[in-house]
Amino acid sequence: MPESLPPDLVALRDRIRTFVDEDLRPLEAGLDVDGPIPAEVRARVRERSKALGLFGMTQPKSIGGTEAGPLAMVVARETLAAGNSSLIRGVFGPGPGMLARAEGDLRTRYLDPVLRGESVGAFAFTEPSGPGAPDRPTWAKRDGDDFVVTGKKGFVSGGATADFYQVIVNVDEDASGPGGTAVLLIDRGTPGVSIDREFVSMEGGGHVELRFDGARISKANMLGKVGEGMPRAMGNINEERVEVAASACGIAMWTVEYLTRHITGGHRAGGRLSDREGVRLRYSDLRIETYIARAMLYRTARLLDSGDDAINEAAATKVFCTEAAGRIVDGAVQLVGGQALIVGHPLERLYRRVRSMRLTGGASDILRLNVARGIIEFNAGRL
Ligand SMILES: Cc1cc2nc3c(=O)[nH]c(=O)nc-3n(C[C@H](O)[C@H](O)[C@H](O)COP(=O)(O)OP(=O)(O)OC[C@H]3O[C@@H](n4cnc5c(N)ncnc54)[C@H](O)[C@@H]3O)c2cc1C
Repeated sequence: MPESLPPDLVALRDRIRTFVDEDLRPLEAGLDVDGPIPAEVRARVRERSKALGLFGMTQPKSIGGTEAGPLAMVVARETLAAGNSSLIRGVFGPGPGMLARAEGDLRTRYLDPVLRGESVGAFAFTEPSGPGAPDRPTWAKRDGDDFVVTGKKGFVSGGATADFYQVIVNVDEDASGPGGTAVLLIDRGTPGVSIDREFVSMEGGGHVELRFDGARISKANMLGKVGEGMPRAMGNINEERVEVAASACGIAMWTVEYLTRHITGGHRAGGRLSDREGVRLRYSDLRIETYIARAMLYRTARLLDSGDDAINEAAATKVFCTEAAGRIVDGAVQLVGGQALIVGHPLERLYRRVRSMRLTGGASDILRLNVARGIIEFNAGRL
């Protein structure tokens, strides 16, 4: 197998498989898999995930978490995705994300409540584009002890219900300080901050477009300094990209197993689809791609686990694994036929889900440009 895991991670993988089969599967029976998870089901998932030592994997040791490394997180996310349960959204505890280095007052007001599950933040980075978009990215002017923020953010996941937004702004240079990007923590409901539009993306996520009309935000709500916005936003990006790749690989694994059962079952024309050579060729390609994607995933996870700089490898892994998962689910839809297109069929849902992965966390072509730059300008990486 491409993963060749040490015994503790084999045990983690086996524990998660049992968790999916014995806890998640019965809990999700009869639920609308695309809808919100009922509170009592969420509570039960959390309780079992805590008992099995999964909940704290994403949480810092200071609050009782286990801060699992990249390889363990890849095993966990891939195994959960390979179980294809709609309840995996509630398995891990809230992590610190961009707030990891928040200190003092910001720690007390934002980070601690997030880790306790009492408050939720949304990430506001992407600027709208196309007709009607502002002609400059969201910007902030200094005014005494405040920043005055103007602009729009086009795609803020969970923005309708989040308690606060982590907003990347471009601070104008002036007599009192330099310009550059900064992260401001902005409470929902702050005067001058409004939701222009609420929408749902094809994989089922809920998002908003945010507008800032001269919103006055205290400088005390800046995370770090002016100039640190992009580095802070990208602080954990390698791990995040590899975790998206892990979910994509898990989906690929579930899909090829599903397809195996389908083509080795009976077919109305007699015999089995798997008896036809043309079907075997298509099927083998999907298996081969799954194998390549997983081999890449585990190599990159190990590089990250060793503390190595693996920025090119993480970007390449996210591109390849998410695109491979797209081809694999698409190929499976084709071999299963019209049934797979019926709304609610597992492949129909996965088709929508894998499509969004090629944009979330960095569009494939932008990551390709990053890989080329890493090699051509910085002579870095092992690709
Ligand atoms: C499910 C989902 C959840 C999301 N959640 C959030 C969130 O919580 N917060 C947030 O801030 N954003 C979020 N996003 C937005 C996501 O980060 C962006 O969609 C993504 O970064 C791409 O940016 P864009 O949509 O503005 O596309 P653009 O940047 O406009 O790019 C569109 C396409 O143009 C091409 N392109 C663009 N620039 C270049 C170039 N220089 N060279 C070559 N080709 C280029 C590429 O093909 C690219 O795919 C989410 C997106 C999805 C799908």
